[in-house]
Amino acid sequence: MSPSDDPDARDPLAPFRDLFVGSEQPLVYFDGNSLGRPLRATGPRLAEFVEGEWGGRLIRGWDERWFDLPEVIGDDLGRVVLGAGPGQTVVGDSTTVLLYKAMRGAVAARPGRTEIVLDRDNFPTDRYVADGVARECGLTLRWIEVDTAGGVEADLLAEAVGPQTALVLLSHVAYRSAHLADARELTRIAHDAGALVLWDLSHSVGSVPVELDAWDVDLAVGCTYKYLNGGPGAPAFVYVAERLLDEVTQPVQGWMGATDPFLMGPDYRPAAGVRRMLSGTPPVIGMLAMQDMLCLLEKAGMDAVRAKSVALTEHAIALADSRLPGVSVASPREPSRRGGHVTLNHPAMREVTAALWAQDVIPDYRDPHGLRLGLSPLSTSFAEVESGLESVRVTLERLTA
Ligand SMILES: *Cc1c(COP(=O)(O)O)cnc(C)c1O
Repeated sequence: MSPSDDPDARDPLAPFRDLFVGSEQPLVYFDGNSLGRPLRATGPRLAEFVEGEWGGRLIRGWDERWFDLPEVIGDDLGRVVLGAGPGQTVVGDSTTVLLYKAMRGAVAARPGRTEIVLDRDNFPTDRYVADGVARECGLTLRWIEVDTAGGVEADLLAEAVGPQTALVLLSHVAYRSAHLADARELTRIAHDAGALVLWDLSHSVGSVPVELDAWDVDLAVGCTYKYLNGGPGAPAFVYVAERLLDEVTQPVQGWMGATDPFLMGPDYRPAAGVRRMLSGTPPVIGMLAMQDMLCLLEKAGMDAVRAKSVALTEHAIALADSRLPGVSVASPREPSRRGGHVTLNHPAMREVTAALWAQDVIPDYRDPHGLRLGLSPLSTSFAEVESGLESVRVTLERLTA
């Protein structure tokens, strides 16, 4: 192939792929949106931490660096991938736990309002936590019905919100369809109704540019083990807009989110600023790996990352259309409405996924019969997309013959 028809040769971000563990192997990885590959820099970084900081500094490490790390990395996330000024983001518990804290804080900041608005196809943990918060606080869930190949659009949200709405909970990129919500417009609609809005960025952060400050978002949470390559169980982040920092408190009142934890005072007083969203001792080791990925994303630039992401998903859709008879695209076809993955539907996809995993081609499966291709922009090549979709074609042919 000449460079003009080899998309990898034309890809300015192609050299980044070699920085990931396993990139030299023929294995095809389409699940970077569930668990990003580790960077080669991550092993040495963790080993150095054990030897030097943990082993060498011991308890002094808390004073020297670890205590502030949730806010330091929070600010890095804000600058590199969230479009958020400093002092509004902190790294802590799992996404699920931060969803709980943020939802409780938000509904308490809108007293007298009785409803939380969310969509039927939001990620399970978001729906389950919302259900628990609603029961705990005597609120009602108002469900938006959505197409599983699409997501929440402006007209659907406008119909659901009103003077009764305390909080709107939405995912920026839908985990099943990859539908990319118009976060600025949906935030405006929630605000026009007097409600707060909480965005779950788990499936967008690190692959789609986010502008939390410019979009006037109130609260956001997101995962760091997907497109931020923080490793299994890496802690999530929460963003609270500066204008709400005095107003929003959270229910798990631990010492690490209190003013001056080492005063060991008689009563809980929330720390000034976003640190109040913390509860207990921060998971320091779990925060280290994402720093390497943030460095890379800053170097590449989120606009270039998004451009490659769009090119990868366009490539996958073109190959599916031309080479996979009987397969339908269950993601938005308009690139500006689609995040970093593509879902392909066929009744045999559950069996296809199992067969592919056995031959080192690793997509994901999501009901109803969707093969989900997560194309993490810095670690996925166009050749990998070609080879993976060729394996899908051969496997589908074999299983449906
Ligand atoms: C992956 C994901 C989560 C995961 O939550 P955990 O607490 O880390 O298990 C939550 N929400 C969305 C939208 C996700 O995609």
